[in-house]
Amino acid sequence: MPYGSGQTERPAGGPAAANDSATLDAVLLDAADRCLRSGRFLDSFGPVLEARFEADTRQDRIRQIRYAVFIGILVFNIYNLTGLVTLPDWWVLNLVLRAAVVTPVGLFVYWASSRVGGGLREMLCAGAMVGANGVPILLMALEGGPRIYLCTAEIMLSIVFGSNVLPLRFSWACIVSAVTAVLATTVVLTKSDIPIELGLVIVIDLLVMMNFTLMAARRTEAANRRDYLLTLRETLRGRRLAEDNTMLARLSTTDSLTGLANRRRFARSMGDLWQGALEGRRFALILLDVDHFKLFNDRYGHSAGDDCLRAIAAILARHATGPSDVAARYGGEEFAVLLPGRTLAQALEVAEALRRGVEDLAVPHAARKDGLGRVTVSLGVAISSQAASEAALVEAADLALYAAKEAGRNRIQSPAGPRRRDDPAVMPAA
Ligand code: GH3
Ligand code: MG
Ligand code: MG
Repeated sequence: MPYGSGQTERPAGGPAAANDSATLDAVLLDAADRCLRSGRFLDSFGPVLEARFEADTRQDRIRQIRYAVFIGILVFNIYNLTGLVTLPDWWVLNLVLRAAVVTPVGLFVYWASSRVGGGLREMLCAGAMVGANGVPILLMALEGGPRIYLCTAEIMLSIVFGSNVLPLRFSWACIVSAVTAVLATTVVLTKSDIPIELGLVIVIDLLVMMNFTLMAARRTEAANRRDYLLTLRETLRGRRLAEDNTMLARLSTTDSLTGLANRRRFARSMGDLWQGALEGRRFALILLDVDHFKLFNDRYGHSAGDDCLRAIAAILARHATGPSDVAARYGGEEFAVLLPGRTLAQALEVAEALRRGVEDLAVPHAARKDGLGRVTVSLGVAISSQAASEAALVEAADLALYAAKEAGRNRIQSPAGPRRRDDPAVMPAA
């Protein structure tokens, strides 16, 4: 059986998992590793790896087959001329078999090689080679004179072509060689014109030559497939490394509890935005702190506190929708939002949407003593154009947040003054 047509390896997790490209890569990498470790490259490609091999090498293989078929047909028909000398009684049959039977078969293989799957393509090549080898064997069977020895040379050359020039896949080369050997041996040893000792010499020559060509074919194909596996393994490893790096980069800038940007990413964005601010591109900063969160944790437990932080983070993510907006967990139960290109009034609108969003969550908070009974947040808003430095901007927002706390919580404050729900700067009158 040709290699790759009946192995037992299956992608881990079944076909559905294999659809996932990362899973497929892992399966391929594992299969490639196993093949390379086993050192068996001809018959140990499983279905997944074989499919990938075919996909990666198909175009080259089709080109290789077409080129070989072109050369093969040319050389094969030269034997129409040599046939005039070697088998003059059979030159018409020789011509018909070569030009009208095997040549069209070769042209069909040329045409079909790009139109059928890899397995059928290789089978067609093997079939055409059996046909090509069959012509000199048939002529040898029909011819009665001593010239039939001359046919054996062509059989040998044809085997070399099939195994080493085309070349057939190794399994098919073995099958074609075996069929040719059986047919040629039968004719040579049953032909009364050939003394049995001479017949045996011819058969031995044929078998030795086949053995040599198959050894060469095996080595070449194993080397090609090994090179392919090494390249594939490096490609897959490289891709996995790149994916791991991307994931690490994302993890190193993401807050694991909330999925928002973490403090590191916030600091980097803040630095970038401040550079822009120095060139006149303003931005706003909102600092947000959960009110009486310690009491919430004490009352409902740390896990409920985590859920609450995640719910608040989702509101931030929903409102920081500008292409360069950054919603970050600043630390503990404090969050920060960077809003490039916004005026103070626009930032106050976003802050109000956040405040209201959290309030509307209506997460019960029975432990707080101000009677609100639900989780709320306080917010400080500052704008880059009002600060002399990056640190001063953070401090301004922090002071505003502190002022919002002092003023009773569940409210927004900016250096310009307090902002309440009914402030026209926050919620313009309809
Ligand atoms: P204030 O209104 O003045 O901000 O009061 P507060 O209780 O929110 O402030 P305080 O700084 O006293 O307490 C903050 C609390 O936030 C204490 C801490 O247990 C809680 N906290 C910080 N990080 C986390 C976290 O990741 N998960 C949970 N569940 N709680 C956290
Ligand atoms: Mg706090
Ligand atoms: Mg707090």
